[in-house]
Amino acid sequence: MKARSRSLIAAVALFASVLPLGSGEAYRFRPVWANGAWRAVHRAADAQRWDTRVWGPGETLPWHVVDHPGWAPAFADIREARPLIERGLDAWGEIPSADIRWHVEGVVGRNEAGGRDGRNTVFLDEEIGGGYARIWSGRDGVTECDIGIEVPREEFLEPNPEQPFGLDLLSILIHELGHCLPLAHPPSSPTTRWWEFGWTRSLVGRRNPQMAYGPVPFGRPITLDDAVGASLLYPAAGWRGTTGSVSGTVSLDGAPAPSVSVSLMPLDDRGIRENVNAMTDRDGAFVVEGLAPGDYLMWVHPVFPVAVISGSPDHAVHDFDDLVVPWPIRVAAGRDSGGHVVTLRRGRGP
Ligand SMILES: [Zn+2]
Repeated sequence: MKARSRSLIAAVALFASVLPLGSGEAYRFRPVWANGAWRAVHRAADAQRWDTRVWGPGETLPWHVVDHPGWAPAFADIREARPLIERGLDAWGEIPSADIRWHVEGVVGRNEAGGRDGRNTVFLDEEIGGGYARIWSGRDGVTECDIGIEVPREEFLEPNPEQPFGLDLLSILIHELGHCLPLAHPPSSPTTRWWEFGWTRSLVGRRNPQMAYGPVPFGRPITLDDAVGASLLYPAAGWRGTTGSVSGTVSLDGAPAPSVSVSLMPLDDRGIRENVNAMTDRDGAFVVEGLAPGDYLMWVHPVFPVAVISGSPDHAVHDFDDLVVPWPIRVAAGRDSGGHVVTLRRGRGP
């Protein structure tokens, strides 16, 4: 139990890390506290991206790993840690529908960690558990990102059969690199049982996105939600035209239902394990973009309460039963399947 609770604390620290924002906001979906107000981006077109003068289309963004004695004993030295950093970058770089080019260029000295110096770094922070991303941005978008992670313990590197959902270094890296794109936190699945680091036996939404709050299988891969989010920011050539969207409104007690999660789950012969999330805006409106053509189930659910560790938008509604729209929704390339109206019923408490 001791190991488990320590891991939970680490997870809380990781996922509670706040995304600093300059101009524009990170896509998606959960609102962030910025400039004295809750703000959320609901359409990819409005999302913040990198300043193309720093990282333009077709260019490769360089990263540096910062030397530190704390890389040992988990690693023999900094050179041995480098492949793991590269795996984190590749997790995003290998998404077929996205065009994200970044790599580890080299190692820099300890005194070059984390400041606004035009260099993107991964460094160790002895003060923290988990990790965080520090995003520097100007008027035209993101210009630099620095990732601080806790001093790695050896159990960060190999799965522990007794603790299969603990936090690991690769998952931390993938999550924080996602913030550097910049992606924000999508909702966790309400079927995920945070306190046991496992899942309920639900038919739907079994996996949390890599960018969501919540328990993580060791070294878990990118989910469909993560891949679509990254691809909407930096689409591979021709990809957007192959996708469609689903939009509509959600209401509760005759009023708009803001900050509610809407998941579109592709129906295919693998079941309905994956989903793509969006959240309703203040008017209860939503749009889920980047969907491959096909049939989907729509699942509307509250933001999982534990997923609001770093604060909840005061206007979010939580106390309703989740709902699966009982017919498939067809998505066609280049089109919006719009006008869906979802009426919720009061139910579960937060
Ligand atoms: Zn985060």
